Amino acid sequence: MKPAPFAYAAPKSVEEAAALLAAHGGDARLLAGGQSLVPMLNFRLLEPALLIDINRIAGLDGIAEIAGGLRLGALVRHRALETSPLVARRFPIIASAMAEVAHLAIRNRGTIGGSLAHSDPAAELPLLLVTLGGSVQARSVRGERTIAADDLFDGFLMTTLEHDELLTSAHFPALEPGTGWSFQEFSRRSGDFGIVSAAVTLRVSDGVCSDARIGLGGVAGTPVRLRETESALIGARLDAASMDEAARAAAAILDPPNDLHGTSAYRRHLATTLLKRGLSEALERVGTGS
Ligand code: FAD
Repeated sequence: MKPAPFAYAAPKSVEEAAALLAAHGGDARLLAGGQSLVPMLNFRLLEPALLIDINRIAGLDGIAEIAGGLRLGALVRHRALETSPLVARRFPIIASAMAEVAHLAIRNRGTIGGSLAHSDPAAELPLLLVTLGGSVQARSVRGERTIAADDLFDGFLMTTLEHDELLTSAHFPALEPGTGWSFQEFSRRSGDFGIVSAAVTLRVSDGVCSDARIGLGGVAGTPVRLRETESALIGARLDAASMDEAARAAAAILDPPNDLHGTSAYRRHLATTLLKRGLSEALERVGTGS
């Protein structure tokens, strides 16, 4: 199918893009990498009157370390994140997860802003933003605001961004040196969306867990941070038995969706397995700096 007719604008600045969004309200859509939007246009799931192509806006493609954290411009491509030496050194969990996103051609075009705004519950970046406790900056003619990851994702393909807001950047807080990490994903074929994914970071002192961040994708309408599991692990001695028990207890309270990619029970099984693997791999990496 072909998309319904639409007008096209290619602003050169964030201000210009925000003014266009404000003028057209819910009738306009931002075009970033187009990897999710264009199929939706072709299927006529969306019929915006105006496409605002943000690819010509300068300065939105930066990858920068700020106050130990990572700031990513909205137009940073998945592939740029995957191959950035800074990201590999300071945020290896992000570099590792990006290799799981779709195929190379899609990673070359898809952007971090598009991925976060699209809010697919199986997507890797939303899961990382929630697990690592990040935030995004949103701009409109009304000004700029920061939205914490916990407040951004609002359900399947839904965010709390207003129709007139442009997501301009994402911020990931620093990982302490020596933090162990793991990103686990199961998909039927390489390049497919994961059916279930798990992100884990751990810090350990004298064999006892001093910090844990654990998140799952593909088990609900948004990525889920497993705060109860984190609390249960913090202060505990980490060994195979305690980590297996934590993974089982975490998966038991999930109520994952049933769909054509997998039943609820299957997703729960995947969650248990990926959490076990993730905790175990993260523990192995504690203190290694890799
Ligand atoms: P677009 O398609 O341009 O836009 C998506 C939505 O976000 C639109 O509604 C658009 O208006 C809005 N938007 C874009 N930029 C902004 C902004 N700065 N501010 C506010 N709103 C904005 N993704 C994964 O994460 N993991 C996968 O495994 C995966 N597999 C895929 C497999 C296939 C075959 C395909 C086609 C896509 C896959 N994707 C996957 C999606 C892909 O990564 C997309 O690139 C991503 O979801 C959207 O990014 P985009 O830049 O292409 O956004």
